[in-house]
Amino acid sequence: MANEFIGFAKCPTCESDKAKLSLSAKTQLAYLTCSACSAQIFARSGRSDEGLRKLLIGAPPADKKTDEKKETADVAPAKDSWDPYA
Ligand SMILES: [Zn+2]
Repeated sequence: MANEFIGFAKCPTCESDKAKLSLSAKTQLAYLTCSACSAQIFARSGRSDEGLRKLLIGAPPADKKTDEKKETADVAPAKDSWDPYA
C-alpha cells in the first residue's frame, strides 16, 4: 500500500509552490509535505482533506470563481429567452 502522489500544492507556511500533496494509503486522507520548510500537514477529517486539496496548483477553479460563473450562466439564458432578437 503506497501513498499516492496527488500533485504539487502551495505550502501554507512558507508559500513555496513545490509542496507535495499526497494521499495516505492508510487513512485515505490527503497530506502535504514541503521540502522547502520541512512542514508536514496531515488531514484528519474530510474537512481538512478538502482544505489541503484547495492548495493544489492547477486544480479546478476555487469555489468562489465557480459560483461567479454559475451566477453569470443563470443570468445569460434568461436574457436570451426574453429577447426575441437575440
Ligand atoms: Zn513550506
